[in-house]
Amino acid sequence: TAQAETHAFEAEVQQVLSLVIHSLYTNKDIFLRELISNASDALDKLRFEALTDSSLLPEGETLGIVLDADKERGVLKIADNGIGMSREELVANLGTIASSGTRRFLQAAAEGGDGSERPDLIGQFGVGFYSAFMVADEVTVETCRAGTDEGYRWRSKGDGSYEIEPAEGLSRGTVVSLHLRQPGEEGEDGPASEGALKYLEEWTLRDIVRRYSDFVEHPVQMEIERTEPKLDDEGKPIEGETESVTKLETLNSRKPLWARPKSEITDEEHAEFYRHLTHDWNEPLSSMHFSAEGSLEYTALLYLPSKAPMDLFDPSNRDSNVSLYVRRVLIQKECKELLPSFLRFVRGVVECADLPLNVSRETLQDDPRLGQIQKRLVKKTLEEFAKLLDQKREEYAEFWDAFGSVIKEGIWSGDAETEKIAKICLFHSSNGEAMVTLDEYIERMQEGQEVIHVLTGADRATVEASPLLESVMAKNEEVLYLIDPVDEWVLQRLTEYGEKKIVPLDRGDAQEDDDVKEKREELQKEHEGFLGALQSSLDDEVSEVRFTSRLKDSPAVLVAGAGGMSGHMERLLKRSGQ
Ligand code: ADP
Ligand code: MG
Repeated sequence: TAQAETHAFEAEVQQVLSLVIHSLYTNKDIFLRELISNASDALDKLRFEALTDSSLLPEGETLGIVLDADKERGVLKIADNGIGMSREELVANLGTIASSGTRRFLQAAAEGGDGSERPDLIGQFGVGFYSAFMVADEVTVETCRAGTDEGYRWRSKGDGSYEIEPAEGLSRGTVVSLHLRQPGEEGEDGPASEGALKYLEEWTLRDIVRRYSDFVEHPVQMEIERTEPKLDDEGKPIEGETESVTKLETLNSRKPLWARPKSEITDEEHAEFYRHLTHDWNEPLSSMHFSAEGSLEYTALLYLPSKAPMDLFDPSNRDSNVSLYVRRVLIQKECKELLPSFLRFVRGVVECADLPLNVSRETLQDDPRLGQIQKRLVKKTLEEFAKLLDQKREEYAEFWDAFGSVIKEGIWSGDAETEKIAKICLFHSSNGEAMVTLDEYIERMQEGQEVIHVLTGADRATVEASPLLESVMAKNEEVLYLIDPVDEWVLQRLTEYGEKKIVPLDRGDAQEDDDVKEKREELQKEHEGFLGALQSSLDDEVSEVRFTSRLKDSPAVLVAGAGGMSGHMERLLKRSGQ
């Protein structure tokens, strides 16, 4: 049928829309970043599909994004000649919440009140397409899917429903038209606003594109009107006469940051590029930029975030966040082959010259070259941790606080050399408030101390109150407090470090000199009856009652068998229902 159909937005979209429209204090500029990033994604997708179906992209055609500001009608257009959308895709992508980022935004908003109390939310998550409604009271999307000649027009006022109708004469790609809000229009539940007409000004647009989209690799262009001296037939300026000319100007610099010489890149440029990649508005903690030459050529630009993202522990989102490019073509945004899951918070880009362009996402998995790259990225990242630990201890401690639990997954998953990860781990300790490394622990070991003492528990206070500490502390020996839930799993694999055994204080046999042991066994014989009586009255609770040499002041303590689980581990398992 050739007439418009009205559809209701998915309930969650309505929630997003109302958050977006009513969060008055948010940085509205980012709507343009979101729409340009969608246009750029659409161009990437077209280029990717054209690798296997060259008819989609006629030779010689250039891909790009064009902005058009129509001051008379108050309309800003963002046009791309990318992949476009079919009718089904329009419904699925713009009527429901397609992006996982948007879903996470909703969750975070639900936890943190209504968007206006969390002005940074939209910036952090990039609500994507719906951010257009921050500045527009009506949005029209005209689109034609590559490989088809059917065009559609989608239109909505952001008020709960949208319309779709067939549209004639569209060429491949998508045009998003924003009817910008007029000043003072809001009022229902907000003060009169300044409106959004400033987004028709050349300098505003230029500035926003430079700020947020400079690294977009496709050109973002705009027709710019200039008054220039009028030229005569020979091309020489005629004195005193001017004319107005319009030229399509490219607003972004386009040069991918990773392709520039390392020494030339400023901290500001890194911060901006990091933001462009991640939507994280905090500055990155550090950057790693390196290349490999020889049989496998690639360049990597990786960042360590300074703050943990909200979905760090989301079990459905454990893949690497590094994008893979092959000769400037984006092959995969979150390429899980590039980094193991314990480094999933590392963000960045790898561009490889030697992979075939038509590599499919499926065959990537089996490509040994990616394994080779991964190995190097892991090595470089662990070296970066070590460098931070050494040179910026305070920042590293904060970083560890945010990401340590994830990094330790690398120990129990066996993804990398345990020893290398163990070297950069920080632990709480009886030595003081500050966290310590295993190397520092070993340096402080007392004469005659043979093992690294550790004790697991729910928190510092619980561990500090444990009678198990008494005898080691009396000998002035340090104890590491393993109070992160994953530590129990870490201990299963990390049983020694620097040739010292790591021994939990609550496991089986304590370290005991021979004469102490003899004395204890003697006493045990002597009091056989007493111990036996205790044993039989506690029969269901414990497997053995015996004297111990590890206490100083407390009368009794519970320990686990030598190969058994610690009490803390048992509690953890019980809590998780096992
Ligand atoms: P995200 O970009 O994170 O997926 P958005 O809300 O920004 O989420 O966009 C939703 C979806 O709409 C995109 O995933 C894409 O499929 C589609 N889309 C948006 N803009 C365009 C465009 N210019 N061309 C083609 N598809 C688009
Ligand atoms: Mg988007």
